[in-house]
Amino acid sequence: MNLIVMGPPGAGKGTQAQILAKRCGLTHLSSGDILRDEVKKQSKLGVDAQSYMVRGALVPDEIMISMILGHALDVCRSGGSFLLDGFPRTVAQAEALDLSFLEEGISIEGIVNFDVDNQTIVRRLTGRMVCPNCKKVYHSQESAPKMAGFCDDCPGVKLLVREDDTEAVVLKRLDVYDKTTRPVLNFYADKRKVVHIDGRLPKDVVARHLEEFTDSLGSSKVF
Ligand code: ADP
Ligand code: AMP
Repeated sequence: MNLIVMGPPGAGKGTQAQILAKRCGLTHLSSGDILRDEVKKQSKLGVDAQSYMVRGALVPDEIMISMILGHALDVCRSGGSFLLDGFPRTVAQAEALDLSFLEEGISIEGIVNFDVDNQTIVRRLTGRMVCPNCKKVYHSQESAPKMAGFCDDCPGVKLLVREDDTEAVVLKRLDVYDKTTRPVLNFYADKRKVVHIDGRLPKDVVARHLEEFTDSLGSSKVF
């Protein structure tokens, strides 16, 4: 079962993808996490991507397409399934993904979009903290770690605040989302069903809706 989770920055894609990937045994492919790992290594790809990421712009399609398709094909060739988070973010990326998967005989079983309003997103992202090791996501007030500043699951590992989670960069990312990523939903809506989940609901409720959806993929229930 290969899936795509979509939604604006801060919609809860990473949070839900981690839960779902664990539950269903999927490989979580987060384009943002993969890029941040490359930035940390200061690889050529990371250096090229960094200047776009810090200012909330999208990394060029040619970099993203080869990077993510490479990871997805690796997962499939080793017999696994993936959960794409943060890709595709442009119609060109969605088209490239369709073409490549058609050639490789790979199918996407479900696409889920989390709907969240901008005010909630700004509040969430300006309080977000992330574990650099396990990538678990926290919020300084709403889902704070047990020991302030440290990951619950990775002893001694300090949580990070992302450079692009300042209010100014978040507003820019929301603008980029509206102009460039929202059209991807229309691209898919013309071809296949996209399931919309209210991402403003509490995490466990969102996770339950997602679980109902993924369970339905194996049955005849239609969403
Ligand atoms: P995305 O991957 O879509 O950018 P994240 O999963 O990183 O979003 O979540 C962004 C922030 O919102 C984090 O601080 C996270 O703890 C918080 N968050 C995620 N889902 C919910 C939710 N359903 N309710 C409240 N806060 C949430
Ligand atoms: P995210 O972790 O999904 O919020 O992504 C962080 C940043 O990485 C984005 O603001 C972009 O600069 C870059 N990025 C992640 N995924 C993509 C993508 N599919 N296309 C272009 N840029 C991306």
